[in-house]
Amino acid sequence: MLMKKLELHWKILIGMVLGLVFGFVMLQIDGGKGFTNDWIKPLGTIFVKLLKLIAIPLILASLIKGISDLKDISKFKTIGIRTIITYIFTTVIAISIGLMLVNVLQPGNGVSEETISKLTTTYSSNTTVQAKITEATKQVESGPLQFLEDMVPDNAFKALSENRLMLQVIFFSIFLGISMLLIGEKRATPLKNFFDSLNDVVLKMVDLIMLTAPYAVFALLASVVVSSDDPDILVALLQYAGVVVLGLMLMITFYSIIVGTVTKKNPFWFLKEISPAQLLAFSTSSSAATLPVTMERVEEHIGVDKEVSSFVLPVGATINMDGTSLYQAVAAVFIFQALGLDLTFADQLTIVLTALLASIGSAAVPGAGMVMLVIVLESVGLPPELLPIGLALIFAVDRPLDMCRTVVNVTGDAMVAMLVAKSVGKLGEPHVRNWDDHYEEVK
Ligand code: ASP
Repeated sequence: MLMKKLELHWKILIGMVLGLVFGFVMLQIDGGKGFTNDWIKPLGTIFVKLLKLIAIPLILASLIKGISDLKDISKFKTIGIRTIITYIFTTVIAISIGLMLVNVLQPGNGVSEETISKLTTTYSSNTTVQAKITEATKQVESGPLQFLEDMVPDNAFKALSENRLMLQVIFFSIFLGISMLLIGEKRATPLKNFFDSLNDVVLKMVDLIMLTAPYAVFALLASVVVSSDDPDILVALLQYAGVVVLGLMLMITFYSIIVGTVTKKNPFWFLKEISPAQLLAFSTSSSAATLPVTMERVEEHIGVDKEVSSFVLPVGATINMDGTSLYQAVAAVFIFQALGLDLTFADQLTIVLTALLASIGSAAVPGAGMVMLVIVLESVGLPPELLPIGLALIFAVDRPLDMCRTVVNVTGDAMVAMLVAKSVGKLGEPHVRNWDDHYEEVK
């Protein structure tokens, strides 16, 4: 009964806390880890799969609907340019905050030789660390315009069949939407009705999936806890993790100030309305998986018009990662500090540029930020033989930090959606449907 009355974000939060507690209890029990992995983790995995399942249909339907609702194409151009500029601006702020904190607080100088050698022996030959380096090397070998080439699909159905190809889906949807505008309303109507209807259906699917969110986050967090590392190692990296988390909190403060001053909305209201998306970002560590929920919250609970959100949010999920770029800046400097290597002012400027590009290039999936960190490290001259050692230093706390930075990535996208909507007069009133978030009314 009580569960029925609670707002969704409270239910999710309770699920998360219980998941954490359950995970810690299972760690103490013989066979608890195996039990959690066999019987609890699948529930979380299924939930994430369901969210990913609807991400592509949702982008397709909502972007086509958003564009074909536009009265003229020039508006789309304005939205596009403002979105990209704001994304770059917020990312540069994030990197600057990260660099400032890591230079002032110097977390790398407090790491003892003993910790460094312990981390190096434990993780430097770890297969995940090695895989990240190999993946990053592949990215480096590509040419400067590779990203543009990659954005254009040569087969629409192939693009639609791979979550990884989200930018291609965005490209195809925009192309289709604009062409629909160009053939005139009368001839475009049948297709438009189809996508409008698909859009409503997919949003309903988001609601249905979200009803299971409190249970799913329980499973997700319990499985994160049981697969976490030795607590001693986590404590040794507390200072570094603390700097990243402090930076991420400053970013949320920065967003709140912008929301308050530019859109004139209450920042606490903003944070409360998008909190289910933030909590999911934390639990899944994936902005892509969270995207359907972010879209639903921003449109229905914040009041951003679909013409804006349908473009800003999917693009943001793939290219705007303020939390990731902040983390990359802190981690890069931390690694140099811990290894006793110097970074000049010019190096720090290089970090700003490469972390900006690296966060754009990072996939919206768990752990992707660490792959692109390799590129940032290489750009400031970390010798290749030190790369595995560098990554080994931060690997143990990467998952919890990934969870935190994904929250900032998602919040940043939502804030920019609000900002761009406000600037083009498309920030309206929330239109929450009363069957949202409750089983009873879904029937
Ligand atoms: N997990 C992050 C995201 O999906 C990317 C990263 O920083 O690893 O937004």
